[in-house]
Amino acid sequence: MTSTPSLTSALDFSGKLCLVTGGSRGIGAGIARRFAEAGASVVVSYFRGETAAQEVVARIRAAGGQAQAIQADVTRPADVDRMIMQTVEQHGRLDVLVNNAGIYPVSGLLEVSDAEWEQVLAANLTGTHFCTQRAARAMVELSGKREGNQSSGSIVNISSIEGTSTGLAHSHYSAAKAGVEHYTRSAALELSMHGVRVNAVAPGLIDRPGLAEAWPEGVRSWQERVPLARLGTDEDIADACIFLASPLARWITGATLTVDGGIQVVPAF
Ligand code: NDP
Repeated sequence: MTSTPSLTSALDFSGKLCLVTGGSRGIGAGIARRFAEAGASVVVSYFRGETAAQEVVARIRAAGGQAQAIQADVTRPADVDRMIMQTVEQHGRLDVLVNNAGIYPVSGLLEVSDAEWEQVLAANLTGTHFCTQRAARAMVELSGKREGNQSSGSIVNISSIEGTSTGLAHSHYSAAKAGVEHYTRSAALELSMHGVRVNAVAPGLIDRPGLAEAWPEGVRSWQERVPLARLGTDEDIADACIFLASPLARWITGATLTVDGGIQVVPAF
């Protein structure tokens, strides 16, 4: 029988190590800050944004949390190997991986170049696999060394509502995120025997500085239709990740949690 944790202890990540890819800005930075607030040591993984990643780390430390930045291009297996190795060497554990890194350029299906198609699939889907595989190997190996030999770990993949619906000029992105959601189920199946849970979060439109100016028609259309009457925030997504990574979700694996203010339940008529 599994014991039921108290609500307070379930949301306390003290002593845990959480690795967030794409943690240098946007949603990933919000996820990193929130896990740190919950007590976790956080590895803020970044690609090109070293200064931004160091700012996220500094903000977490200033608030009394623990964080460090590690560079890695998630599309390069050698980078991912190094990121996981550095994390394990320096912290001696890996409890939570959030596969948040992603790109979403806009290109019509008739115009998208072969190179851009490959990049979008690589950053959103293949990178999720490279990080999941390497992190899961580490989680299994580390837990084998612990007393009782009981494996544990949690992986949360950031998808998008476009993984099930569509987005204009986003055929590559929608296909990649649909892949992320199905990969989540496959990984959940294969890793369950090792005690590693794998789930996904599918965000709706998340606010960021300059979004309303850059895409006024998109933001207006969203606000007119979304049942919960606003754009999302980084913290809305971070809290879903915290829940899925926590023991509160101990019997949940292979699920995709939509966090979109209800846009997907808007009726056609
Ligand atoms: P941002 O564009 O603000 O940030 C993207 C992050 O991903 C950056 O930290 C960037 O690193 C990192 N990244 C990009 N490519 C790579 C790579 N090859 N290797 C490693 N890291 C990489 O994105 P958002 O915060 O908007 O989105 C985060 C996630 O949420 C994505 O997966 C996105 O698809 C998803 N999403 C976003 C929504 C939104 O409304 N914003 C809605 C639905 C889903 P760096 O800056 O260091 O180069």
